[in-house]
Amino acid sequence: MKILANRMDLGFKMHQQEYEDAALHVLRSGWYILGKELESFEQEFASFHEKEIIDGDIDTCNCTGITGGADSNKLYCAGVASGLDALWIGIKMLGIGAGDEVIVQGNTYIASVMGITMNGATPIFVEPDENSQIDIDAIEKAITDKTKAVMVVHLYGQVTDIDRIVDICKKHNLYLIEDCAQAHGAKWNGQKVGTFGDVGCFSFYPTKNMGAFGDAGAIIAHDPKIIEDAKTYRNYGSHKHYYNKLVGANSRLDEMQAALLKVRLKYMDEITQERRKLATTYTEKIQNPEIITPVEIDNSYAVWHQYVIRCKHRDKLIDYLNEKEIGSIIHYPVPPHLQEAYKYLGHKEGDFPITEEYANEVLSIPMYNGMSDEEQMYVIDALNAFKA
Ligand SMILES: *Cc1c(COP(=O)(O)O)cnc(C)c1O
Repeated sequence: MKILANRMDLGFKMHQQEYEDAALHVLRSGWYILGKELESFEQEFASFHEKEIIDGDIDTCNCTGITGGADSNKLYCAGVASGLDALWIGIKMLGIGAGDEVIVQGNTYIASVMGITMNGATPIFVEPDENSQIDIDAIEKAITDKTKAVMVVHLYGQVTDIDRIVDICKKHNLYLIEDCAQAHGAKWNGQKVGTFGDVGCFSFYPTKNMGAFGDAGAIIAHDPKIIEDAKTYRNYGSHKHYYNKLVGANSRLDEMQAALLKVRLKYMDEITQERRKLATTYTEKIQNPEIITPVEIDNSYAVWHQYVIRCKHRDKLIDYLNEKEIGSIIHYPVPPHLQEAYKYLGHKEGDFPITEEYANEVLSIPMYNGMSDEEQMYVIDALNAFKA
């Protein structure tokens, strides 16, 4: 049996007719940028995040409230062209720039860091905890008088104790930026990620849990002013046709992607439940002393963008899986502080030993919507038979 690490085609086929209808509707509409599809998508994506807060059993949602709107439980959304754009524009809307420091976990994807450095700000790396999430105890030690924000990355779709991070941000008057690119619909204490911070930044890159069919991203916030500014910024800083109040960018989420994302959003609960079932099966059935499986900590609701195991003999394990035609991916082989692009930050090997150790041990095993029981059992049996 040949099993790929990821399958985007299956997600499409599951609701093929609806995607095709939505695409055709946009093609025939004669309107392709900044129109009704984007507007309704933004409203629906904001509501998706308000839902548990308003209909569920959460009285008031917990958030930093450093920026406005924290008391109303209402959310606003601006669609942008990618997850990276959501991050750098979101960070820019907080006024963060040259001379400012942003604390972020060292084992994240490079785009989290670029969202900081594209604004001229400096990333201050901290180590991950045993669950690959930001080590909360390390945050306060990393704060200086230049610190403006903490970025929490809900890596692999897992969630850490974000209430504690909110408390640290409130105590030190720091913005909280949430990188939710891997965590659409993930929750802490029933509250969806992206709603704890000052900005929640999402990617809809095709491989993400909520994937578009091209590049797309979004920013959500409690403060309507931040979203209004982001909408101006993404369109050349123009608030009114041919009047520009900011030197902005071209970062618009097009009508085609917005229409397709509206279809995907309808099925997000299903998509998440299927991934959670796959993860539970993996965790229960993978029994090999050479392999550490990920943990969903109490009060968290993980959405399993990746199912990431750790193994001291990772490279041998990859060869072994390749022989059995089982795909796997390393997320990520080189941590940002050791990337050539970030040489100027002056870090060297050994600066973040846990981050570096994880880079040598992590492996994402096949996890995708539409994975059959038979396929999953084939992967599990192979992993259990691995000998270092
Ligand atoms: C994918 C991803 C991004 C960037 O999203 P793009 O849409 O590819 O620009 C940012 N942060 C994390 C953690 C990601 O996984």
